[in-house]
Amino acid sequence: MSVHESSSDRLEQIHQQTLFVDMHAHPGGIHYPDVSRIGADELARYRRGLIDVIVCNVVGDATYTYVKPDGTFGWGNYRPKPGAVFAFDLDRISAILRTIDDDEVVLADSPAAVRAAKRKGKLALMPALEGADGLEGRIDNLHKLYHRGLRLLQLVHMRANEVGHIQTHPYSPGGLTSFGREVVRECNKLRIIIDLAHCNTETIMDTLDLSAHPVICSHTGVRSLCGPPLESEQRMQMRYDRFLTDEEIRAIAAKGGVIGIIPSGWMPNLSDLMRHFDHVRHLVGIDHLGLGSDRVGTGTESRPEPANWHTAEFGLEGNFRAISDGLLTRGYSAEEVGKVMGGNFFRVWEQVAEAH
Ligand SMILES: [Zn+2]
Repeated sequence: MSVHESSSDRLEQIHQQTLFVDMHAHPGGIHYPDVSRIGADELARYRRGLIDVIVCNVVGDATYTYVKPDGTFGWGNYRPKPGAVFAFDLDRISAILRTIDDDEVVLADSPAAVRAAKRKGKLALMPALEGADGLEGRIDNLHKLYHRGLRLLQLVHMRANEVGHIQTHPYSPGGLTSFGREVVRECNKLRIIIDLAHCNTETIMDTLDLSAHPVICSHTGVRSLCGPPLESEQRMQMRYDRFLTDEEIRAIAAKGGVIGIIPSGWMPNLSDLMRHFDHVRHLVGIDHLGLGSDRVGTGTESRPEPANWHTAEFGLEGNFRAISDGLLTRGYSAEEVGKVMGGNFFRVWEQVAEAH
């Protein structure tokens, strides 16, 4: 490397050779009921961050928490009617697909499609479900979602569902249910990536035992870097319970999987965030690191989103360059930065999608 080469040039070079992936996001607030497609401004922000693939998450349990029975937005505690959970999730996937009608954006339905898109400078969107609640306990619903483009399934979100159990308050003990076991096997057959974010330890370990393929945990952090939860955090979904133990990190890595670090408000600056990358790299190696932003975009006029990347370093823009730059400054090699920014995720996807 020449001494005159800027970090921005180095990043562009890494980006030429590697697909950059946001392993977990809700771009443009697509998980809300009244958003018809992901806005062009939001997609442009991702392009400026050099991202090639956005894993676009529909929230599987939305109809239990923030979508009223009449289909409009409003926080509550709902009991959706049979069929309503699946219908909402399908509707949100349609909103992702509507974005894909745009010429500049393609559906990330296979690794080959994404590679071809990158050659043409296009962004690829991967429909994903955060919480398998939308299956409503029916495996044929998984097939229907797959045929609509679903390529990644996070098993649980904020409630223990028909598939497995959650790590956050109110903690629910137990691992994969028998339907959950069927879902894992069927995801393997359909070549859907399995995501363990929000799963409790038993559900994580059951899935690792059963899955024929590597799995990911898309947006998390390192629990051993956090002290015990503050009193104010104990009954909330805070950093302590959302992050992985070292034992869980080792188990996911041993299976060949990837752990996506979340640049959230729990890590108020870049050096806090870097400690999480460093810890995973030290514990299990560079091949098991990724990035899952959990970005929701800047929202709509009627419902502006508070930025979940609210520090100066990350900002509303969703500054992926600050992170890749931070890794380079920290001494990660170009090859290592490429792996973190998407190379590792892509390796897992190829293993899942092209397994015999
Ligand atoms: Zn989440």
